[in-house]
Amino acid sequence: MDIKLPKGTHDIIGAEAEAFESIETMLKNVVRNYGYLPIRTPIFEHTELFTRSVGDSSDIVRKEMYTFDDKAQRSLTLRPELTAGVMRAIVENKLDATAALPIKLFYTGPAFRYDRPQLGRFRQFYQFGVENVGIAHPYQVAETISLGYEALRYLGFESMTLKINSLGDGPSRDQYKEALKGFYKNQLSAMCPDCQARYQTNPLRILDCKVPTDIAINEKAPKISKFLSPNAQRHFNQVLAALKLQKIPFELDDNLVRGLDYYADVVFEFNYKSPSGKSYGAIGGGGQYNHLVRELGGQPLAGVGFAFGEERIFSVMTEAGLLDDHLPHIDAVVMPLDEKQDEFAFTILQNLRRETIASESTFDHKPLKNQFKFAEKRGAIVALIIGDQEVKDQQVTLKNLNTQEQQKVAIGDLLSAVEKVLEQEGHHHSSGGGDGCGCDGDCN
Ligand code: AMP
Repeated sequence: MDIKLPKGTHDIIGAEAEAFESIETMLKNVVRNYGYLPIRTPIFEHTELFTRSVGDSSDIVRKEMYTFDDKAQRSLTLRPELTAGVMRAIVENKLDATAALPIKLFYTGPAFRYDRPQLGRFRQFYQFGVENVGIAHPYQVAETISLGYEALRYLGFESMTLKINSLGDGPSRDQYKEALKGFYKNQLSAMCPDCQARYQTNPLRILDCKVPTDIAINEKAPKISKFLSPNAQRHFNQVLAALKLQKIPFELDDNLVRGLDYYADVVFEFNYKSPSGKSYGAIGGGGQYNHLVRELGGQPLAGVGFAFGEERIFSVMTEAGLLDDHLPHIDAVVMPLDEKQDEFAFTILQNLRRETIASESTFDHKPLKNQFKFAEKRGAIVALIIGDQEVKDQQVTLKNLNTQEQQKVAIGDLLSAVEKVLEQEGHHHSSGGGDGCGCDGDCN
């Protein structure tokens, strides 16, 4: 077939898909402890949602959106991030007016950006994120940052860096933008065309520029920390103090402005450099947004949130061997030696599965050597060998593939014998309970 994946997308298959699910499950376990409930929003939204929230001056809206007209000429966009859709859903479902505050929602799903594909950067990628809306108390912000940190710790991350900055409140940023305009005025002709446009629309965005000559100029630019209003500075200090209280290490980073226009006050990013020196980019990032709900027609509620990139989490965990314990495995392989035993074997196989013992059989009647190889590939611990004699005696030969020990087990005792071996070998399965093989004694 000569039809290939669209550039920047990737298939996630088998063990890898299982790993993504494990990552999502582990993250869900953590966020539920913080009182979050799930939300699912559409993959496409009206384009205007993103131009109004993520912002006209952001790279995402200017260059990276998958926007198209539907058959009724409505302009729709594949979501480049999920916060905007969540805020629209909050307003549309009137949660901002009726739900107890704070509204705490988490999501997982694909996002789409027409980005330049590279290590850790895709055009369709998965995000897992949280939004905490309704209370702007510094502890609410610190709690959200701590959640991101604790979640990564729970996944097994050890050496990550939390970068943090404050973009200040409205008055802080207005003054800062003026200062930036003054600074860039005479440098602009040496800067990239994008920055020349950003100068007009939102000079803060110039600080995001990745062009080397512009990065050099940016290093000398005025810093936001000098422009924080007393209120913004106090709020920032309280958030930092709360993080210290939790013994969460952070680095202040004056250049962290984040690429989305809705951010205000505290913004943050989780970074990780692997032992091999590979950098997959930021693992996650987020911040406060004070006007997003109001901007979309809702109540004047502030919020804070972050999103992780699941591909990046997966890459880091794979490299560090953190996913090994989560690889899919089956518990038992049923091995009929001849088609004459298939009926007996099939009944046992299905009964094991009914008792939530993950089981498999190839029914290929290949020599045991081959069947053992198959069992090894599937990570099975137990082989259940069935020949003529076994059927006659209503028994199964149970082999522990770790220790190579072998025993004959009467059909009525099979389930407990398999469970015992699995337990002994530390193989966990969620047993539905019950005795014997689960049948009423008529497995043949
Ligand atoms: P953002 O919405 O830009 O704050 O991104 C949040 C997180 O999503 C980032 O820290 C990355 O982990 C991930 N991410 C963003 N863009 C991409 C991309 N193009 N490919 C893969 N992951 C991404």
